[in-house]
Amino acid sequence: MLEKLLHIAKRIGRRRWVSVPAGLVLLFITLNLLFPFHVQPRYSTILTAADGTILHAFLNDRDRWRMVTELDEITPVLRKTILRKEDRYFYFHPGFNPLAMARAAFRNLTTGRRTSGASTITMQVVRLLEPRERTYGSKLIELFRAVQLELFYSKDEILQLYVNLIPYGGNVEGIKSASLLFFGKPPQLLSLAEVTTLTIIPNRPSSLRLGSNNARIVQERNRWLKRFGQAGLFTASEVADALTEPLNAHRRAAPRLAPHLALRLKSQYPDQPVIHTALRPGRQAQVERLVANYVGRIRSLNIHNAAVLVVNNQTMQVEAYVGSADFNDAADGGQVDGVRAVRSPGSTLKPLLYALAFDKGLLTPKTVLNDVPTNFSGYEPENYDRQFNGPVTVEAALANSLNVPAVKVLQQIGTPALVDLLKKAEFETVKKQSKVLGLSMILGGCGVTLEELTRLFAAFANEGRLQPLLYHPPAPSLARRGSAPPLPRTAEPPPPYQGGGRGVVSPEAAFLITNTLTQITRPDLPNNFDNSYHLPRIAWKTGTSYGRRDAWSIGYNRHYTIGVWVGNFSGEGVPELSGANIATPLLFSIFNAVDYNSPKGWFRAPKGLTMRQVCAGTGDVPGDFCEHTIVDYAIGGISPYRRCSHRKAVWTDAAGAVSYCAHCLPDSGAVRRFYPNLAPELIAFYRSRRIPYAEIPPHHPACTRVFARQGPQIVSPNDGSEYFINPHRPQQLQLSCQTENEVRQVYWYVNDRLYRKAAPTEAVFFQPQAGPVKISCADDKGRNTNIRILVRAE
Ligand SMILES: [Zn+2]
Ligand SMILES: [Zn+2]
Repeated sequence: MLEKLLHIAKRIGRRRWVSVPAGLVLLFITLNLLFPFHVQPRYSTILTAADGTILHAFLNDRDRWRMVTELDEITPVLRKTILRKEDRYFYFHPGFNPLAMARAAFRNLTTGRRTSGASTITMQVVRLLEPRERTYGSKLIELFRAVQLELFYSKDEILQLYVNLIPYGGNVEGIKSASLLFFGKPPQLLSLAEVTTLTIIPNRPSSLRLGSNNARIVQERNRWLKRFGQAGLFTASEVADALTEPLNAHRRAAPRLAPHLALRLKSQYPDQPVIHTALRPGRQAQVERLVANYVGRIRSLNIHNAAVLVVNNQTMQVEAYVGSADFNDAADGGQVDGVRAVRSPGSTLKPLLYALAFDKGLLTPKTVLNDVPTNFSGYEPENYDRQFNGPVTVEAALANSLNVPAVKVLQQIGTPALVDLLKKAEFETVKKQSKVLGLSMILGGCGVTLEELTRLFAAFANEGRLQPLLYHPPAPSLARRGSAPPLPRTAEPPPPYQGGGRGVVSPEAAFLITNTLTQITRPDLPNNFDNSYHLPRIAWKTGTSYGRRDAWSIGYNRHYTIGVWVGNFSGEGVPELSGANIATPLLFSIFNAVDYNSPKGWFRAPKGLTMRQVCAGTGDVPGDFCEHTIVDYAIGGISPYRRCSHRKAVWTDAAGAVSYCAHCLPDSGAVRRFYPNLAPELIAFYRSRRIPYAEIPPHHPACTRVFARQGPQIVSPNDGSEYFINPHRPQQLQLSCQTENEVRQVYWYVNDRLYRKAAPTEAVFFQPQAGPVKISCADDKGRNTNIRILVRAE
């Protein structure tokens, strides 16, 4: 536009003479360059839901409600009434109306009074953007500004500016704010009577106050309705209906749903007056209510907060976002966004670990792991209930969230492998912590957010593929192309997963995890769980962080993934806080509310999964001596093919008191018997708990064979560790070991001198001297193990 004007000016300038109009054009161009018009209406930020309703509105930076009305929200009725009332020739004048101005000037001269009848909508916009004292000088400036507006903006844009700037008394500005705050609806839904009401207020916003002078407003409204009728703007019956309509205007509170997401997106898009989200308004309100009521009930336990995220698995859109129980409760940190707060995950990462182990071909659901006291180089995890269960399947270990088997699996896989997978799944805090994370990370020794966990579990629901959470609706063109399926209105089963995203685990592993997490015979059902409680059909995992500071429960079915966190933002732990008893009831009630007419469809086993018979004792492929077999899943080409050796044949004498090997097997009288092939740690566990088990008889004392197999394993003290002793109050160190089945006797050596002869399970104590100490343990087969420790005086 500017270039065009300069071009015209040049053409005019080339002429010998300069006419008056051309001079005016040059003057305008110069003034326009000197005093450009910066039109920057400062709008309130509003957050809309998937259906366009306003979820949340903020005051603008001048503490005013000035919500932007989009062009398509200016209905024909609104346009007609405004133009009729304010500026009939709006679409025909250049920003000012010379005829009206002349008429007003004449009237001012003859009556000596000032009237404002000459103001066009354009000039009113100028005054609303840059208020000035009413002088003739101001009038000239406004005239200049009006021409600028007309040159650089379309008529529709100027009309839009007008409806967004007109005052409604107090701090309410613009049709949209007035419509929402006085009538509780968007401008498109206003009736003729309401539109007329809103067009008459701006001229006298202080005397015609909506909500307090409603009777006077109705009089004025009806006067204008009749005028519109006479002018033929509306039919007689339309006007007659509008005349009888009561005025229900009163000041309402601005919408305040999803306050945490609103703040988050506002800081992300500071210059965007309207932020469209994928939230579903009814769902958001419902979940906010459920969370507030639930936290109200558990407040007496000194538990004050909760956060919830509801994700649609098909679209990955976030349909509800609750950052805290009560945003306005400053005492309990209500403004903290619990969806993004970094917390300890407790046991919630275990499903990912087992999925990784399935994919690495280490385990299958029926693989047996030993849940026995284990010392991982000084780290001795306990279970939640402080009990150990002996041999358990992977399935049971995950469903019961046992700690020792999880740490063992992580040790086998290696912490870096799990860290890499979490990085791939975009766990931001884990990325930062990656160098310092150890085995304890699987029991909660790392930082995660509810958002990250919910996104991860949605990947389990989507064949192991991780996709970003969508906070905004897809662009309309995308929706039309069908890449994002629309929300199902009826209870039809959702379409199968369409692909996309990044595979963090295989579809097979994801299915196996889902299958395990769906089992309902498990201890993390709420204590008060009974048949009257409706249990949604979901897969879910609970978690409780160290010190009972965080309670988690994340669940999913094909439709939804819902993440629930309950705890205190202060980090205060509470004895009653647990994922099962505190977070899961809220998860269930939200699932029942959000997905009450859930379709019957459930996840189907992917093609890569096969079924096979395995030994019930180990989960391995049955060997020659296995008795009981059960059915297990296997991932084709991946799952381990280990032949079971859980029982072994041993030659003994007739009484079963002595065992033989091939060297010492007598020519007659020997009997072949089967004994369980137990790991030393399991034997130690059985012995310490006096659990009977079939023990292989001691080896033939006269045998000359050299035993080559594994020697005793020293479990205390820790090899390579430093121990501090107080010289004045010397403490004792415990010596303990684990041995094979047949071992009857061990010999403890300290610095190569025999210290004590003992039974394998016997606890032996000794008082160390400062300095390096070599400790050895030899068994009755002559096999020996050494460790070294360093003892320091404190
Ligand atoms: Zn077996
Ligand atoms: Zn022998």
